[in-house]
This record gives sequence, C-alpha cells and structure tokens, in this order.
Amino acid sequence: MDLRVRTGITAAALAESITRLRAAGCVFAEDEAEVLSAAAADEIALRAMVERRALGEPLEQVVGYADFCEVRVLLLPGVFVPRVRSELLVRMASAATSTGSIVVDLCCGSGALGLAVRGRRPAIELHAADVDPVAVACARDNLVENVYQGDLFEALPTRLRGRIDVLLANVPYVATRHIPLLPAEARDHEPRTALDGGEDGLDVFRAVISGAGEWLAPGGIVLSEITEAQAETALAAVRDAGLAADLGHDDDLEACVVRGQKTVGPVR
Ligand code: GLN
Repeated sequence: MDLRVRTGITAAALAESITRLRAAGCVFAEDEAEVLSAAAADEIALRAMVERRALGEPLEQVVGYADFCEVRVLLLPGVFVPRVRSELLVRMASAATSTGSIVVDLCCGSGALGLAVRGRRPAIELHAADVDPVAVACARDNLVENVYQGDLFEALPTRLRGRIDVLLANVPYVATRHIPLLPAEARDHEPRTALDGGEDGLDVFRAVISGAGEWLAPGGIVLSEITEAQAETALAAVRDAGLAADLGHDDDLEACVVRGQKTVGPVR
C-alpha cells in the first residue's frame, strides 16, 4: 500500500520535500522523502521534519527510529545512530550466547546492540548502561528494563560482577584529532562522549578492558568495535589485562571487532 495515501501526504507535498532535500545536498532525496512522509502525521509535520533533515540532522533522529539488524530501534535527537557495521558485534555476541546467558550492552546509547542480540536470542538476560541520561532514556524506550545510568561498570548492579557471559562495549573510539574529519551529521548531532576516544581513540576501550576480568564470568567474552589501525594496540591491551585476545573482521561491513576472553586455564 502506498504510504502517502495512508498518511495523507499529497504527491505535491512529497515533490516539494524532494526538491528541498535535493537543494540541501541530500544524495538520496527521493528515498529520504518517502521515509519522512511515512513518519509524518500530516503535511505540517512533514515540512518541519524535512527542514530538520535539510539542516543536517541525521534522518534517523528526525523520524525517531533506525532499522538495525532486523529490529526497529527508537531514537531521540542527540543519541548516537546505530551503524550498519556494528552488525558484526551483534553476530559475534549472538553466536556466544545460550539460554540464560547474561549479556551486558555497555556504552549502550539507544540500546540498539542489546535489542538486536535479544531479537536473535530471546532467552538471554540483558542489561544495558550508558553515561548519558538522554541515551539512557532512549535505551529504556527500547529495552524497557535493566537499563542503568552511570560511568561504565559503576552503573551496573554488583550482582553481575563475575557473571557476565557477553560484554558488548561499542565504546567511542575516534581519536580526538580525527573528530573534525567526521561527517557533520555525527559531529553536530551525536554526543561527543559517544565518539571521542581520546588521543589514540582507545581510552574508553582500555577502561572497559581493565574492568572486564573482574566482571566477566569464567569463559566470558568482551567484544568491542575498533578500526583496523587500532587493532595491534587493542590486542596488546587485552592481553595485558590477562585475557585471551583475537579479532573478528567483516570486509563488506568494513568492521573490525576485538574479542577478549576470560580463560579458565592459564592464558598463553
Ligand atoms: N565514526 C565511528 C563510526 O561511524 C564512530 C563509532 C564509535 O566511536 N563508536 O563507526
């Protein structure tokens, strides 16, 4: 069924939206106008949404959702938009769970990763946390329960200490000097705390890794997305923390994930 008919958006209003988006430099003006029309309650709302988009706000924040790994993630303005490449984290996390596994989505933002893993593995026990109150509100919209606000592990209930089977941490990993090179959508509309990983981009990663040994269950794993250029430094940090370390790659997604495991026997 034609979404424009359902939402009462006329063909003229749609055409006007396309023209405005194209003038603003949106490469996929037609597609975006369709998405905006489907999300707008009426033409007045559509015009306001098109204007926000034309001024550079990410489409997902304007319409209030992102489709990520077969789940629809609700989004609020100012919350990190889940990236397609993070599907690798979801796949690796899902593969490591079984019934009753405790999965923690740390630095959860909207809660997209946890929601996607739970979509694939409904029998897990999921917890999520973020330092940013806006992100936490958004994650509560998505996950409903077990969402905490606070700085990394400090946010988590102490009963999870030593019991986490899969610790997902899509930390901010952009080196501070690379922040100006990010697309304006990210620079202007996503929180700096969700992007900036300090001098080499790995400050928050190192903080997560140094706490992981204490919070993981025996055999539990920690998964973090990084860049290829950070891989050697990240692997060394994981090994220094006494965890076994390896990498996952997906060339199509241009994704690189470092995995640390709390081994039960001696670490080689
Ligand atoms: N710019 C990075 C990306 O698009 C940001 C990811 C991050 O810092 N978590 O994947």
